Amino acid sequence: MTNDNRYHWKHKDLLDVTQLSLPDVQHLLDIAAGFQEINLRPVKKVPTLKGKTVVLFFVENSTRTKTSFDVAGKRLSADTYSLAKTGSSLNKGESLKDTGLTLQAMGPDVVVIRHPSSGAAEFLAERLSCGVVNAGDGWHAHPTQALLDAFTLRQAWNNDFAGKTLLILGDIAHSRVARSNVHLLNMLGVHVRLCAPRTLLPAGVDHWQADVYDDLDAAVRDVDAVMALRLQLERQQAGLLPDLSEYSRRYCLTARHLSLARPEVGVLHPGPLNRGLEISDEVADGPHSLVLKQVASGVSTRMAVLYLLATRNEGGLSA
Ligand code: ASP
Repeated sequence: MTNDNRYHWKHKDLLDVTQLSLPDVQHLLDIAAGFQEINLRPVKKVPTLKGKTVVLFFVENSTRTKTSFDVAGKRLSADTYSLAKTGSSLNKGESLKDTGLTLQAMGPDVVVIRHPSSGAAEFLAERLSCGVVNAGDGWHAHPTQALLDAFTLRQAWNNDFAGKTLLILGDIAHSRVARSNVHLLNMLGVHVRLCAPRTLLPAGVDHWQADVYDDLDAAVRDVDAVMALRLQLERQQAGLLPDLSEYSRRYCLTARHLSLARPEVGVLHPGPLNRGLEISDEVADGPHSLVLKQVASGVSTRMAVLYLLATRNEGGLSA
């Protein structure tokens, strides 16, 4: 594959989808579609990023995001190295700036960072000359999750986002996934609905480009897709949800809810799942579930992100 010569990816970093134009997004998703083909081959490796170095710097837990960046880098023949809080000098009190500059001195092409503080990725990007990818910063943003969700929906909807409606359900207040997705889905022409109890809606939600519901039956009616979110219990203050069983009774996505949506409705969840709390087993494992497709899309999409950032100054490398 060759980078389209008429198009120039200009971003050193990927910090949030808000920095991207529609052509940026379409170009990235096209490249991800090309890489998806590699992921289906018996030998899933190409030399595209041979000699490039990717550092995975995860200060917060991760299963899907970290593994898929690692797999993505390796499938493109980049060398990938992991640094976690446990086992690093962050545990001895080293600052984010000093850790970042130390990593940079080793000459990486891209640093992928996940951090519990909003703004941590931007802080690093301003100080490092290599590319920085935000793999989730506090409540703020998770751009590669939104991009992989768009990639999954693009395939489910045959590349036609226009006129589609998607419901985001659950703990929207604490969700970086919701923030990045609302922006990107609107950019792609998708009509967004939000459904949550009032205490799990963010301040200022009335200014988001979305229709807000608190009744799930009304919210799910005639939608083309539902994105259920994990209850972010680790980020919640006490008292937001007095009773988890009451929450699941009102907001856990069941097959009955799906029967109110469009017949071909797709169900997404960024993972990890709290089964029985925000999503039932029958939905998570049922025929409408796109959850494992999202995981596969994550590898292709992150290959595209690493490729674009690592070859930004090279006018495209052949794959
Ligand atoms: N994996 C996603 C994130 O890192 C969603 C979640 O943790 O609930 O934001």
